[in-house]
Amino acid sequence: MRAALYIDAGSVIVDDVPDPVIQADTDAIVRVVRSCVCGSDLWSYRDTFKREPRSRYGHEFIGVVEQVGSAVQTAKVGDLVVAPFSYGCGTCWWCEQGLPTSCPNRGTWGIGTEDGGQGEALRTPYADANLVVAPGGLAAYDDAGLLDLLACTDVMATGLHGAVMAGVGEGSTAVVVGDGAVGLSAVLGATQILGAERVILLSRNPARQELGRRFGATDVVAERGEDAKRAVLELTDGHGAAHVIEAVGTAQSWQTALDAVSDGGMIGAVGVPHTAPTLDSKTLLVRNVGVRLGICPVRRYLDDLVGRVVAGTLKPGAVFDVTLPLEQTPEAYALMDRREAIKVALVP
Ligand SMILES: [Zn+2]
Ligand SMILES: [Zn+2]
Repeated sequence: MRAALYIDAGSVIVDDVPDPVIQADTDAIVRVVRSCVCGSDLWSYRDTFKREPRSRYGHEFIGVVEQVGSAVQTAKVGDLVVAPFSYGCGTCWWCEQGLPTSCPNRGTWGIGTEDGGQGEALRTPYADANLVVAPGGLAAYDDAGLLDLLACTDVMATGLHGAVMAGVGEGSTAVVVGDGAVGLSAVLGATQILGAERVILLSRNPARQELGRRFGATDVVAERGEDAKRAVLELTDGHGAAHVIEAVGTAQSWQTALDAVSDGGMIGAVGVPHTAPTLDSKTLLVRNVGVRLGICPVRRYLDDLVGRVVAGTLKPGAVFDVTLPLEQTPEAYALMDRREAIKVALVP
């Protein structure tokens, strides 16, 4: 079968790899229907860190179950399934707490020796614990519906997780720092799922501003640095927002989050800190500002998100502004690297 492989910084190829096979009776083989490139895939592409040459790429996919191990009961051959970007065993203490990201048997697609989502098929361990069946099967969804389901595998869940960690609730005022797919999804989660009344999105890109408004942002701040701080304070009666979602992970975005949050407020951070921002704990103490960071335990949110997509009340798939065939995965990376696409979907 064909799959995207990391070669070196700036180099992704699509090549022949062995077909996946069942290794444990809890495995399933899933044939990919849609996958995509993640902002986090760009770190190795941009040489922020090295991967093993010819390691698989991609951790976001939906697909059709092709084969199941003898112990798999939930997923049936032919089912359309939505996978969280990382899996857990489903039976340990951590998984029972809804934190499969801390499961001792966890894994992430496309990391280490795991099959990647940017390919034609994958072996999925602990299928019952992780794969969520989309009712009706493949025939029940049009292209937009498939992209809505695909968004739930990471960015929609991660954006929502940021808003949850920031304490967003009914009537909240929130600021979202970051206009990538996760930041935009945080806007959607804050407004349509958690009931925020006012969401201020920081974005300088017209297309992203427009999508942010469609997703429920009431205000857009295009300024950066001190000017952004001034603009947010003006929009919040000089206080700042009680809830801030940090969806970038750079030193600058953290400073913006600290500038935007009101004293007594909470920052929920889902942007992986790749430039190691330093937080001044004394400032946080004096200002009574809380900070919560977390990789999203997607499985915790997945039943609810898929249910909303199936009901037609949540349409997060609009973050995909380009769709390409799997063979053009290198072009997908280049487009996202140049910020010419928000998020690129891939069709095997
Ligand atoms: Zn991702
Ligand atoms: Zn577990």
